[in-house]
Amino acid sequence: MPELADVEEYRRVLDRCGRGHRVTRVEVTDAGVLRGGLRARRLRDALTGARIGRPERHGKWLVLHTGGPAVLLHFGMTGQLVSAPADERPAAHDRVLFTLDDGRQLRFRDQRKLKGLWLAPTPGEVDRLLADQGPDALSLTREQLDAALGGRPRQLKAALLDQSRIAGLGNLLTDEVLWHARLHPAHRTDRLDRAATGRISRSLKQVLRISVRAGRVPPRGSWLTGHRDEPGGTCPRCGHALAHGRIAGRGTVWCPRDQPAPAG
Ligand SMILES: [Zn+2]
Repeated sequence: MPELADVEEYRRVLDRCGRGHRVTRVEVTDAGVLRGGLRARRLRDALTGARIGRPERHGKWLVLHTGGPAVLLHFGMTGQLVSAPADERPAAHDRVLFTLDDGRQLRFRDQRKLKGLWLAPTPGEVDRLLADQGPDALSLTREQLDAALGGRPRQLKAALLDQSRIAGLGNLLTDEVLWHARLHPAHRTDRLDRAATGRISRSLKQVLRISVRAGRVPPRGSWLTGHRDEPGGTCPRCGHALAHGRIAGRGTVWCPRDQPAPAG
């Protein structure tokens, strides 16, 4: 599932292949990915002839800017942004194709179509579409983290996954950060002490820095993610068998020795 690091990779694709180029053609092969009442024709009219500007990412959202309208992309569970030669046959799940003036194509590929593309005619509309997003996890300050973990008490993992508190963290990043910070995913936010939030802050920075560089949460042998899907997987730090369960409604993996269950 695309999280901050994956969307950062799609931002790089858009920046490298799209920025500065003019869109010569827009093809919508499946209007099921158009959101907010957007019609294929309206997207074509808005983007054909437009020059792609510097893309932006906020949380799991990618913004394709032009001098005029912007397109907001959300990748849901299975979305991708890929660049391909325009004369290469589209893949089965390529839903929207933007042909560029250099003969390349940017393709929004998405099998499950849970999210998709929104058109924002004005900068105000971009802001409105992103209004419910919290601060981006990559540039999160300690004060913003404390604020995100404050308020109504809840499970730590649920708070970190809540895009309106912190934007960008998904299931893999959250489990990895909590494993690095040695905190149980079901720990209550109102029972975290200053040392614990400091560990979250440092782990978040480290895990994001490495994941953004890799364009995903890398399955390193020294990380939880490298072992979470192994049958009988063990913690690469202490060797204890990893625990699997459902926390915050998501399939969760942790080390029961390093991340002991909260009391009560
Ligand atoms: Zn361990």
